[in-house]
Amino acid sequence: MSKAGLMEQALSWDAQDPLAEFRNRFQIRDGLIYLDGNSLGCLPKATLDRMNDTIEREWGEGLISSWNDADWAVAPQRIGDKIARLIGAQPGEVIAADSTSVNIFKALTAALSLRPDRSTILTETTNFPTDSYMMQGIEQFSGGRISARAIEPSNVLEAIDETTAAVLLTHVHYKTSKARDLFETTQRIQQSGALVIWDLSHSTGALDIDLTAANADFAVGCGYKFLNGGPGAPAFIYVAKRNQSAQPVLSGWFGHAQPFAFEEGYRPADGVDRFLCGTPYVLGLAALEVGVDMMLEAEMTAVRAKSVAMGELLIKAMEPLCGRYGFVLASPAQAEDRGSHIGYSHENAYAIVQALRDEHDVIADFRTPDIIRFGLTPLTLRYRDVLDGVARLENVCRDKSWDNSTYRTQSAVT
Ligand SMILES: *Cc1c(COP(=O)(O)O)cnc(C)c1O
Repeated sequence: MSKAGLMEQALSWDAQDPLAEFRNRFQIRDGLIYLDGNSLGCLPKATLDRMNDTIEREWGEGLISSWNDADWAVAPQRIGDKIARLIGAQPGEVIAADSTSVNIFKALTAALSLRPDRSTILTETTNFPTDSYMMQGIEQFSGGRISARAIEPSNVLEAIDETTAAVLLTHVHYKTSKARDLFETTQRIQQSGALVIWDLSHSTGALDIDLTAANADFAVGCGYKFLNGGPGAPAFIYVAKRNQSAQPVLSGWFGHAQPFAFEEGYRPADGVDRFLCGTPYVLGLAALEVGVDMMLEAEMTAVRAKSVAMGELLIKAMEPLCGRYGFVLASPAQAEDRGSHIGYSHENAYAIVQALRDEHDVIADFRTPDIIRFGLTPLTLRYRDVLDGVARLENVCRDKSWDNSTYRTQSAVT
């Protein structure tokens, strides 16, 4: 289809888009095309009021009484139950707390406690590094009892044997966007007697997930990506009811059966509460709840449908640039095999991302060594933004404005 034809289609989809009004509820600077909402989501306008209220009234005036009066103490459970609805979990199976990395540690050690006669934990190479790092730490701490292994992605399932306690896999790959089949993979892992831990960092708030139907054991995910919970937002952990008897290793007082009894000995709380550790991050939870509430209002089937349509549009619009400027699609070509971002490899990916940002107000993402990542966030992007972003990328390539030493120098956070 011609450029004009694609734009006509985009404008007509925008006009009929059931999610269109959500964009007005975010603070988005005029002219900016933000294709990085999968890394840090945009700011919902309602978050400003919520934070003001939490800080001025609940903290400033209510002080310590707000643990009860403003329901601070139960925010992890309340927001956890809301996230549960986004991922097909049951009430009492999800808790919002800590970072994804810490929750990965909790899930891995819980799984190991449920499989005391097994000593191996598996993941895949190329996984988001923190997942592997947390496994390596457990191996080291265990003094050799536990062995952590990273297997080449296509061979992970074959590597499971009778020593495997748990397999930690990411649902949607952070670079390529390749999505694993939750149902089939979970089944294969469980057939060998191992437990599955799903990292949903790049799928929560982007894909329509049903952990109950998939019979998942554990899952973790981020609050600051598609959920728009703000920088450093609390993450979440899902623990299937049947696994909630696991013995927590991070045995902090908020996971105690009676935190305010101040007993000498640790006694884990019933249910998912035992997966709490320390004092809830009240300010972060307040911001996260606004993002989660909006996502619930939008409904995941509509979000996924728009994400898929935006992805198809992006891929079509990028075709001429692939031929002319050497971009190579690094994500699956079929929508059902990918998440809500699309990656292209290009040898000058880093410099191109810098030039796009500085000269054309397009924020995309670079992932080492050569990937440009375009995050497609249905609540904050219009179809026309996708095409405008590609048009600006074409300008950068045509002018070669990326080709200078400033843009080639990498900063600490990419
Ligand atoms: C973003 C991401 C994380 C982030 O972990 P934090 O502890 O929240 O920094 C973890 N795993 C995957 C797969 C991610 O994409």
